[in-house]
Amino acid sequence: MSTQQAKLDDGAPMIEMRGVNKWYGDFHVLRDIDFTVKKGERIVICGPSGSGKSTLIRCINHLEEHQQGEIVVGGTPLTQDIKRIEQIRRRVGMVFQHFNLFPHLTVLENCSLALVWVQKRPRREAEATAMKYLERVRIADQAKKYPGQLSGGQQQRVAIARSLCMHPEVMLFDEPTSALDPEMIKEVLDVMIELAEEGMTMLCVTHEMGFAKTVADRVIFMDQGQIIEENAPEPFFNNPQSERTQLFLSQIL
Ligand code: ADP
Ligand code: MG
Repeated sequence: MSTQQAKLDDGAPMIEMRGVNKWYGDFHVLRDIDFTVKKGERIVICGPSGSGKSTLIRCINHLEEHQQGEIVVGGTPLTQDIKRIEQIRRRVGMVFQHFNLFPHLTVLENCSLALVWVQKRPRREAEATAMKYLERVRIADQAKKYPGQLSGGQQQRVAIARSLCMHPEVMLFDEPTSALDPEMIKEVLDVMIELAEEGMTMLCVTHEMGFAKTVADRVIFMDQGQIIEENAPEPFFNNPQSERTQLFLSQIL
């Protein structure tokens, strides 16, 4: 963490969304989104395809722009100001469904690139940091390979390591296992569970309900751009309140 960033206490709001609305042209994709992720919390977002889950989390680091309402990340309000956006992006790690690794760079280069070019670290130091996180996701032995030479599960673990190299304060996951073959899902979920156990603040879009039950402090259900229901996993799964949540859970469980 850089010195100009105030360290947040446990329980302080890491992400706040208040009255957030977004449109794609005429299409109202996010409707009055209100929620808070506190430091150290693990939140799972689920909901049908097209309900706005990706759009919601992409608004947090300004990969998408919202038109109404307030988003505050680690105390910094998200505005058009590029300095603010960069400040927020430094604090927020993101892992995508399709890994988004650079195919022409090795695993080690993928992980050390931003440390060298964005953070201006000496290459040796950047590579040592990258190796540390590659070891943490148990893939250091593949450091010299290219993404195309790895399995999907391995590539996703590299993507997580690459994010961790930047020392994010919160990690956003957008369906990190949904492009993976079934036998590779566990190796990625295990890494995510370890991160959660180490206290990482996490906001995860996933339909892995076993993960949600094990790790989540709260589960959020979205439908048609709205948060329909939000609860601790036990009541969420055992006693869902809304009919839409009941229908969704009956289809995926
Ligand atoms: P989810 O992640 O829950 O599947 P998305 O956030 O990807 O949902 O998309 C929500 C809705 O917004 C969908 O109907 C989708 O077609 C639409 N949408 C997503 N991205 C765009 C875009 N760039 N332009 C127009 N419509 C979009
Ligand atoms: Mg999505």
